[in-house]
Amino acid sequence: MNAYQSRVNIDRIEKDLYELSKFGFNPDDKGIYRQGLTPIDMEARQWVKQQFEAAGMEASLDGVGNVCGRYVPKPELEDVPAVLIASHLDSVPAGGMFDGTLGVMAGLECIRLIQENNITVNRPIEIIGTSEEEGRFGGMLGAQALSGNLTLEWLNTAKDPAGEYLKDALEQCGFSPQEALHARRDPADIRAFLELHIEQGPVLEMNNKPVGVVDGISGVFKWLIKLVGKPDHAGTAPMNMRSDAFMGVADFAHELSRIIDEEGSEYTRLTIGRVELKPGFAHTIPGEAHFTLVGRDMDNEVMHQVSMSCQKVLGAIARKHNLKFEYDQLSWIPPRHFSDDLVDTVEKNAQELALDYMRMPSGAGHDCQFFADLVPTALIFVKSVGGISHAPDEWSHWDDVQKGCDLLYKTLLDLCNE
Ligand SMILES: [Zn+2]
Repeated sequence: MNAYQSRVNIDRIEKDLYELSKFGFNPDDKGIYRQGLTPIDMEARQWVKQQFEAAGMEASLDGVGNVCGRYVPKPELEDVPAVLIASHLDSVPAGGMFDGTLGVMAGLECIRLIQENNITVNRPIEIIGTSEEEGRFGGMLGAQALSGNLTLEWLNTAKDPAGEYLKDALEQCGFSPQEALHARRDPADIRAFLELHIEQGPVLEMNNKPVGVVDGISGVFKWLIKLVGKPDHAGTAPMNMRSDAFMGVADFAHELSRIIDEEGSEYTRLTIGRVELKPGFAHTIPGEAHFTLVGRDMDNEVMHQVSMSCQKVLGAIARKHNLKFEYDQLSWIPPRHFSDDLVDTVEKNAQELALDYMRMPSGAGHDCQFFADLVPTALIFVKSVGGISHAPDEWSHWDDVQKGCDLLYKTLLDLCNE
């Protein structure tokens, strides 16, 4: 095997990412605060638009704030299906400087390389910095808009946790729900959708691989569960005469690993991320517990088995503690499997570049998942140090970033010159 030789300019990518990280940087905790559809997010988008233009692309913002840079090598290729490279530009509160932004800046670097090396490409290429991926309003707004996964009803009713309406946030940024619907792209105009993203987990590091070739994204279901017992005096009510809702939550939490052992797979994850007790007073037995359960797996059937087992176990626990139990399924997103052809191409390129890689699924959702059923889609991961993400300590080594970018670039050229 030949030794790895890089074609990308990693110094330029590093400089771009540092520049971009200044938008929303908080010196106190060193985190980035660039939530979707906020003034600082829009400033960052204007900056990215300028970088796209400086690299010779025609750039614009669509109806939800996706920044789109389009490179058409020759006018007669205008209508040929394009390759899209996209990831997001918004961050979680106190986020890191690689999440999402890496994929956008890597795409920009590809265009610069094509231009300065006079590389022939036979398709248009579009680099997109998507809008509001981190779920401030409960979805992945930008990618949903591009893939036609939006309804006017949702656009008009979605709210963020602070109670601000999506439609108002859109309007404050100069958009509207109606325009948001117009951001949809016709899949017939897209040859392939590529995304480069940090792993945000520990698997690549554990396996000592710089890059991952992702073949699918876990499905995810979200429940809101209520256990209802009886609030009572914490001093006078004997332990054996209580209907303590928290005890139900505690018992259920202990059962999760057994449920996974019996019904799940190596990719199953079950998480209780939020618990609210009522009345929530130190000297009162909690009469109600409201909590979330998020389940994930790579197989829809396994997700069903696991969710049925959760129901059964909750029923038994409710009986044991004399509680009533109800649950609301807030969402159910089936797993997405990427098209074998394109994943194989990425894998072949990793081998040709002499990169140490592994094929793997993604446990987290990404923009590309909305395209997986529409067009050939691929996702490349770069190793995250310590698996840390959504935190100021998020980091990837530049030589790993470089390898991921090279893999993206080679795959793009394959798609443009097939
Ligand atoms: Zn991300």
